[in-house]
Formats: sequence, structure tokens, C-alpha cells
Amino acid sequence: MPPKDYAQTLTFATMVASKQGWKLSSDPQFLKDLVEGLATNWNRYGYFLCPCRDSDGSREADVKVICPCAPSWKDVEEFGHCYCALYINPAFAASGKEPQSIPDRRDQF
Ligand code: SF4
Repeated sequence: MPPKDYAQTLTFATMVASKQGWKLSSDPQFLKDLVEGLATNWNRYGYFLCPCRDSDGSREADVKVICPCAPSWKDVEEFGHCYCALYINPAFAASGKEPQSIPDRRDQF
């Protein structure tokens, strides 16, 4: 897999958010850290392993935590954001609430 730089990875995250009708984190430093984490994981593993989770050793084992992860749709719907809080429900963003720690529900999906 060719490596991905920060700009390419930000484009990926922006496209995911746009396709799903989500917003990206409005915290510039937090967004930068997460996008850098995604890029690092791509360049390390060859796929966009969630930047907030550890690899279980293979793409097959990690399949539910490749961004956008399996629980992300329900997490954004129910909690207002994904596990990392990279992707935000627009209604949650408009509410002015801050993302909270949410359970890792990878095994439920
Ligand atoms: S929690 Fe899911 S959707 Fe959010 S950054 Fe991690 S893998 Fe992507």
C-alpha cells in the first residue's frame, strides 16, 4: 500500500463525514492528532485502523475497527459522536455539548 500523508488522510476523513452526513471534530488540535493517528496506522498496517484502539494483529482481527468502524453509525446516532469523537452528529455539534467517553462496542456489531 502506498503511504498516505496528512492531507490525503484528512481528505479521506472529510469524504467519510460528507458521505455520512457527519461533521468532523471542531477542535483543530484534536482533529489533527486523530488524522495523524489514522495516517500513522495506514502507514504501519496498510489500513485505517482506528486511532483510538490497538491492533489485534491482523486486518481480519481488526476489521470492525477500521475507520469508519462498525459501531460508528450507531455511536454517532446514539451518543452524538464516534468512539474517538472524530465524527460528530450535526445535531450534537449544534448543541454545543462536549464529546464524552463512550463504550467500545466493537463486539456488538
Ligand atoms: S471510532 Fe470509528 S469512526 Fe471514529 S475514528 Fe475510530 S474507527 Fe473512525
